[in-house]
Amino acid sequence: MNNIPAPPEEPGPLIDTSEMSAGQRAAMELTEAARESGDARTFAGGMFMGEFNLSTVHPFPVQSAGDRDQGDAFLKQLETLLREKVDADEIDRTGEIPRPVIDELARLGAFGIKVPTEYGGLGLSQTNYCRAAMLLGSWCGNLTALISAHQSIGVPQPLILFGTEAQKQKYLPRVARGEISAFALTETNVGSDPAAMATRAEPTPDGKYFILNGEKLWCTNGTKAGVIVVMAKTPPKVVNGKSKDQITAFIVEMDWAGVEVLHRCHFMGLKALYNGVIRFTNVHVPCENILLAEGKGLRVALTTLDTGRLTLPAACVGAAKRCLNISRAWANERKQWGAPIGKHAAIADKLARMAADIFAMESMTLLAASRVDHDKHADVRLEAAMCKLWATEATWRIVNDAVQIRGGRGYETAASLKARGEPGIALERMLRDCRINTIFEGSSEIMRLFIAREMLDPHLKVSAAALNSQLPLRRQLSAATKAAIFYSTWYPKQWLPFAGQFQISDFKFQIGARHLRYVARTNRRLARAIFHAMLRHGPKLEREQLLLGRFVDIGTELFAMTAVCLRGKRLLNPVNSMDKNEDLPGLIDYFCNTARLRIAQHFRGVRRNVDPTGYRLAQKVLADRFEELESGIVQTSK
Ligand SMILES: Cc1cc2nc3c(=O)[nH]c(=O)nc-3n(C[C@H](O)[C@H](O)[C@H](O)COP(=O)(O)OP(=O)(O)OC[C@H]3O[C@@H](n4cnc5c(N)ncnc54)[C@H](O)[C@@H]3O)c2cc1C
Repeated sequence: MNNIPAPPEEPGPLIDTSEMSAGQRAAMELTEAARESGDARTFAGGMFMGEFNLSTVHPFPVQSAGDRDQGDAFLKQLETLLREKVDADEIDRTGEIPRPVIDELARLGAFGIKVPTEYGGLGLSQTNYCRAAMLLGSWCGNLTALISAHQSIGVPQPLILFGTEAQKQKYLPRVARGEISAFALTETNVGSDPAAMATRAEPTPDGKYFILNGEKLWCTNGTKAGVIVVMAKTPPKVVNGKSKDQITAFIVEMDWAGVEVLHRCHFMGLKALYNGVIRFTNVHVPCENILLAEGKGLRVALTTLDTGRLTLPAACVGAAKRCLNISRAWANERKQWGAPIGKHAAIADKLARMAADIFAMESMTLLAASRVDHDKHADVRLEAAMCKLWATEATWRIVNDAVQIRGGRGYETAASLKARGEPGIALERMLRDCRINTIFEGSSEIMRLFIAREMLDPHLKVSAAALNSQLPLRRQLSAATKAAIFYSTWYPKQWLPFAGQFQISDFKFQIGARHLRYVARTNRRLARAIFHAMLRHGPKLEREQLLLGRFVDIGTELFAMTAVCLRGKRLLNPVNSMDKNEDLPGLIDYFCNTARLRIAQHFRGVRRNVDPTGYRLAQKVLADRFEELESGIVQTSK
């Protein structure tokens, strides 16, 4: 399948940064250096190259009975705790998670769900962890954030992945028992772009410590944590004759001299987030507290997030299911204009989309999670990013639709509803809480760029050297010859009408076969469209964010369709035929048909769009050429 020529012996930079600004170049070089560059192509990665290798994802995974039982025992206790002891509205109102709730979570092992048992954790699988996130997400956004920031990005995950045995022995039992942890990357001038990082760590002359100085912003759990992971710049190193910035990840204990919480931040939602600004003044961090190695901090952060990112979509599934639960009940109960509102087409449409999208995001997340369970080192970068992007955006629509279905009651607070004798249904809180999901752990814009980078990677490996003006002419010519040979066979294949169809017949799909045939065909159409865009834009394609975004969205929809069809096949052949849901084919068809409509719209957008004029217009807006549009208001900025 991966018949791409081997990269040249000295690959050189894959991306030509010669025409970039210094800031852009620094950001690009830093993230490129930290990027994992596995050559094995995953199902999702192959789709962008026109491949349809169903055998890598078929059959849809089923949790083994043992794994499920292990998860069930913990989830049952967690559910009881949530139902009986966690008042999510009270937590929202007071901005505090009661200490007994945190203690009880610790007692259940909720702070060490994935931590191996030999280090005091529950040692549960990624799938069970996702099931816990779903349960939490359905009940309380604040608890979800506490557990997820601690476990998915805080100390446990990077330590499990990269920690030395001594680090694991020292810290994993502590964090598994309930010592809260956090992850500190963001700074005032460092959001999506870590190259501008100002926090620094300088080695002491005796080589035993690094002295840490700087300030971190928006560190979730930071005001309650005992131990955190901090990203800092360490002295640059000379690589290939050039000075290269280094970012290093340190494990820092919050009671060390020089660590201060300056401020607890407050937000639109997640009112009980223990999120703070943390200052480090001459903090002595022992060298043994470096994670992975000096200069490998960004790789620690990116790899941690690769699987860490699966928690958010799982929690989104939980929140979205809760919305469906609330919306379905209200759409049956509430009668207006002589009928339950669910019988009016405009509300029915929202319910249908909600149900189909929930099935899709759950299918995608389970598929990706099971890959981690089968192989701890599985490359799920793309799948996790697709799940994060798709699920957080779908959940925002779903919560918004649920508010609309509840009408005025959707906008009213739970406390006010209760005070006048109605059930305290807190959609207003859920809307506030879930708005952040498309911003943190990689904003939607950054997720699209991240997926686009992976999407273009096979092409960059084949052809970037030919166009890279930073390389000697001889290297460019040799690369151009290799690229011509590769594309002379690859491109015609993208026009073959039946590629991939046999696998679909082999796997005997009763439902979804026609949709999978569409996926196989559309993968090739997508691959052709990407290739044509490369020819049209050359190295400048990297700047065509909207165009790349459409390709990414098409690929993500195709991945969602595949996950839905595979899971549908699995569910339609249950071990116990009583579990069979006769209405499932309708749901699968509906989802795939809506996805096809969205894909068609994206393809239309590739051919006809107003991107360049929109960009020019935005630059004029930025240059304040439409002052009148901001007149007649109370202005906050000039
Ligand atoms: C509630 C909350 C909790 C958080 N928890 C943590 C935490 O625990 N640890 C931590 O380190 N950080 C945390 N963060 C920080 C969070 O990850 C950042 O907010 C996020 O990375 C975005 O950074 P920014 O807000 O500075 O936005 P910016 O990077 O300034 O971006 C602003 C906007 O521009 C877009 N944008 C930026 N660059 C590009 C580009 N190249 N192309 C197109 N669009 C672009 C972004 O998508 C965004 O829409 C948290 C933030 C919040 C609000």
